[in-house]
Amino acid sequence: MTFDELKLAPAILKAVREQGYENPTPIQAQAIPAVLEGHDLLGGAQTGTGKTAAFTLPLLHKLTMARSARNKWGGYGVRALVLTPTRELAAQVEESVRTYGKYLQLASTVIFGGVGMNPQIERMKKGVDILVATPGRLLDLQQQGFMDLSTVEILVLDEADRMLDMGFLPDVKKILALVPKEKQSLLFSATFSDEIRDLANNLLRDPRSIQV
Ligand code: AMP
Repeated sequence: MTFDELKLAPAILKAVREQGYENPTPIQAQAIPAVLEGHDLLGGAQTGTGKTAAFTLPLLHKLTMARSARNKWGGYGVRALVLTPTRELAAQVEESVRTYGKYLQLASTVIFGGVGMNPQIERMKKGVDILVATPGRLLDLQQQGFMDLSTVEILVLDEADRMLDMGFLPDVKKILALVPKEKQSLLFSATFSDEIRDLANNLLRDPRSIQV
């Protein structure tokens, strides 16, 4: 399998080629077509398997296909929300979004705790297509009225097991109540406890399952 066979937009393939990737990894070869077809996804994968590109590449492709809605401040509404357990992972995922999306006209940002809120608030008001965030700070901003998640089309829970280990399940549940019911959802986890299975069952509709 080659990247060219995956039917991604030429602008995305160009950025992938510049990274020097020869072929999709197994999780990419399975996940990318499933996400492009619009399926929900349950992905069992550790870091180092290429899982970030497995969800980022098709997510970017889908966002190039249609127009943005406006958020309540008149900026572009958040279309893809990626939740991660830690700020390091959030920053890393957003960096990947920038790398693979460098030839696309899509705006992304990353939001996590431990830093000032004002720049994050200003950024959100302007509008972002792709938001990568940790649950706590995302909810802080939401509770203060600075987060409009009513336009989310694609939701990704990355490293869901670590998110639960860190006690974020209540926050994740609150966030799930803030995004539209009609959306595409992807859940990645290295391990599958009963709690993760419950979360997946609540969130995912007829998901494709991938285990690498
Ligand atoms: P991840 O599992 O998403 O943390 O990715 C692990 C590493 O693999 C990252 O450094 C990526 O840049 C790299 N990578 C992702 N996809 C590919 C690919 N298809 N070929 C070679 N390297 C890749």
